[in-house]
Amino acid sequence: MKEKGELVEGMFQRVDHRALTDFVVGVLQKFSVPKDDALVTAQTLVSADLRGIESHGVARLKRYTDGLKNGVVKAHPNIKIVRESPVTALVDGDSGLGQVVSHKAMNLAIEKAEKNSVGLVGVRNSNHFGIAGFYGLMALEHDLIGLVMTNSRPLVAPTFSKEPKNGTNPICIAVPTASKRFVFDMATSVVPSGKLEVAKRLHEKVPLNWGIDPEGNVTADPDTIFRGALLPLGGLGELLGGHKGYGLSVVVDIFSGILTGAHWGTTVGETQGPDAADVGHFFGAINPEAFMPLSEFKSRMEQLIKSLKSAAKLPGAEEIYIAGEKSAYTEEVRKKIGVTVDRETIQTLKALGTETGVSFPLGK
Ligand code: NDP
Repeated sequence: MKEKGELVEGMFQRVDHRALTDFVVGVLQKFSVPKDDALVTAQTLVSADLRGIESHGVARLKRYTDGLKNGVVKAHPNIKIVRESPVTALVDGDSGLGQVVSHKAMNLAIEKAEKNSVGLVGVRNSNHFGIAGFYGLMALEHDLIGLVMTNSRPLVAPTFSKEPKNGTNPICIAVPTASKRFVFDMATSVVPSGKLEVAKRLHEKVPLNWGIDPEGNVTADPDTIFRGALLPLGGLGELLGGHKGYGLSVVVDIFSGILTGAHWGTTVGETQGPDAADVGHFFGAINPEAFMPLSEFKSRMEQLIKSLKSAAKLPGAEEIYIAGEKSAYTEEVRKKIGVTVDRETIQTLKALGTETGVSFPLGK
């Protein structure tokens, strides 16, 4: 299997994941974020880099520190439960770091599922939370099925439109198994905006059908797509199922935005402001034991995985993968040889380091 990631040799440097985590913690603490909260945020960002999702890794740190600087993100939020039942809760994140709010909310969902088989927690007044998979993996630590959704700033055009109305609104479903863990974690757009940002940083064109220009024509230029719109999963029109990606992104917004009382659609803001982002999330944890013994469930998952992986391969195909398999492999490799950080991001992080007096750990 190959290591995941969008960066090609010569365009990045390897950095030890522990040193990178310490750096992020150090920087966030300089912005008055308490140590434990800084650690959760750092672990989420570095987890993305470890899992080959550079689009949501430490490259995002500057946005968070910009938000902390201008007050859109609060270092000391008053995160509180505003409504609760034995199996549900609504959490107000008080504009805290999305990772800090989400970590608390997912833990609450897990606690409820361990007591009452199911925990469903909606969140409002939060910020960008990073990769959905991080919170799905939290459920797996407790042998629970995890469900994670979030809305995000509007970048995606509904089918037959050229105007961004939805976020890239990801969904993650993580399922405990006996061996390889199933972690399905995806944006409901063809790609998340982070992949456009990576292409921009590397001065690369992107495949046609990722997005459209302001007139609605497909384009390979990431900057033009930011001025136009990303396309929903499935791409332009209905022919390749674009309407299904569009539908999924609306479903995510219904759970994350409408149901929680958070912003939704075009009103969802950004970590850097100018106003409170009021991002909405939705977390779920389900105990398989509510349906059958855990060992039986895991064994059935194993049979499903085995069946999928035994499918006849296309010519040239090396492997049939299970969702989460490539990320898990990449994490294993990168824990040993370091994560990849592109040069532009290194410059940005070094500048943040200089500003805060925290030195950036170059090299492994
Ligand atoms: P990918 O397209 O990279 O992957 C989507 C899923 O498909 C993953 O579970 C992946 O597993 C799996 N997969 C990939 N290739 C195969 C294959 N050949 N066979 C079977 N399964 C496969 O994800 P996206 O680019 O859509 O999203 C990247 C990240 O961005 C996600 O973590 C998402 O949560 C995050 N995001 C966050 C947003 C936010 O606002 N906070 C907004 C949008 C996205 P594997 O991981 O093993 O590759």
